[in-house]
Amino acid sequence: MKSIYIETYGCQMNVADSELMLGVLARDGYVRAATPDDADVMLVNTCAVRENAEQRVIGRMGELQRHKRAGSILGVVGCMAQRLGPILLERVPAVDLVVGPDGYRNLPELLAHARAGERRAEVEYRSWEHYEDIPQLREPGPTAFVTVQRGCDYRCTFCIVPTTRGPERSRQLHDVVGEIAALVHTGISEVTLLGQTVNSYHDGSHGFGDLLRAVGAVDGVRRIRFTSPYPTDFTPEVIEAMATTPAVCEHVHLPVQSGSNSVLKRMLRRYTRERYLEVLEQLRTAMPSITVSTDIIAGFPGETEAEFAETVSLVTDAAFDDAYTFKYSVREGTPAERLKGHVADDVASERLARLIAVVRAQTRRHNMRRVGEVHEALIERPAKRGDLMLARTRQNYLVLVDVPASAVGEYRMVRFTGTTGSTFTGSIEHPALAVL
Ligand code: SF4
Repeated sequence: MKSIYIETYGCQMNVADSELMLGVLARDGYVRAATPDDADVMLVNTCAVRENAEQRVIGRMGELQRHKRAGSILGVVGCMAQRLGPILLERVPAVDLVVGPDGYRNLPELLAHARAGERRAEVEYRSWEHYEDIPQLREPGPTAFVTVQRGCDYRCTFCIVPTTRGPERSRQLHDVVGEIAALVHTGISEVTLLGQTVNSYHDGSHGFGDLLRAVGAVDGVRRIRFTSPYPTDFTPEVIEAMATTPAVCEHVHLPVQSGSNSVLKRMLRRYTRERYLEVLEQLRTAMPSITVSTDIIAGFPGETEAEFAETVSLVTDAAFDDAYTFKYSVREGTPAERLKGHVADDVASERLARLIAVVRAQTRRHNMRRVGEVHEALIERPAKRGDLMLARTRQNYLVLVDVPASAVGEYRMVRFTGTTGSTFTGSIEHPALAVL
């Protein structure tokens, strides 16, 4: 029996793609290896969104090559593989194989070639590829990522994704629903629908609102999440479907990137600060208890101190519950690379630090107000430290609870007893009763 070790970097889409590759290779007789020691194949599933993520992968390849032995294969897959293609083969001699996100179906043949000593880069776009017939090999647990759309048709000037993942395409609604109905039989009750601009989903006949309703109607689906939506793809129909589908969770992660209209324009984001706030208002009107998180970039080319101040003020004006903040990272070949006025690294770092401080303080304030509340929480997995279990509420709050490991997959009513600022500690409200 052959064994495959896979390491995953980047977004949830990559997690889902790693599960897909494990599915492809399981059909070819591979079993999953927990460590690189003695694995016949080692794959690193990469992210290309930021320069430092790529540097980390190059460093990691150096470490993994020490686990190579006669006949074993080291491969790079994912967005960095797509971006660099054959350059990776030149740059890292220990790498035997490079495969982009549309080439995973061919992994068994590609591995056979690599074993025969042929080093290849497979980076062709296949806009028809949905991997519809390949079951993902998922980690056991009560939650699952389900890819409903691949690629992106937007052209945000900072972003490498349209280059690495190709044009947007959506799976057929009935295929998604069929997959999710099958997942429910394996004990999964929460699904996260994935797409680069997931709420622009359209399969030719059905839009994202139809998809939410159809998934919500699957018996046994108790929670639906989705990521990442694009602000202006929140049409009234989509918002209506969210509000009227009980399984849709009261949380949205809605990347804003900047609070300055001039920066948004240079980013080619297709909304203004005002339009973004209007979308939030519509979401909050339809779902009053919804929480909102976002992504923000500090130090985009040409960003002035005044423009940055507008981003800082948006954190308060939008009342974000949380935000993932990043320093702009130039990506070769993107339009932003050619923009004038790249912000000096120390200036961008200082702005990022200020932004993080504002976000952290706001998140802490929001969370402190929630201590004492009772929420339905799904017990997901053991926490990294201690004997506690990690649970998640519908509003996407993480809470540590003292329940046995056998409670994974159960829903409990949990009272928040404290917060570290970002996560909560909680106590089970009715220990004898799981929430059915
Ligand atoms: S919407 Fe913009 S940021 Fe998001 S994947 Fe597409 S190009 Fe990138």
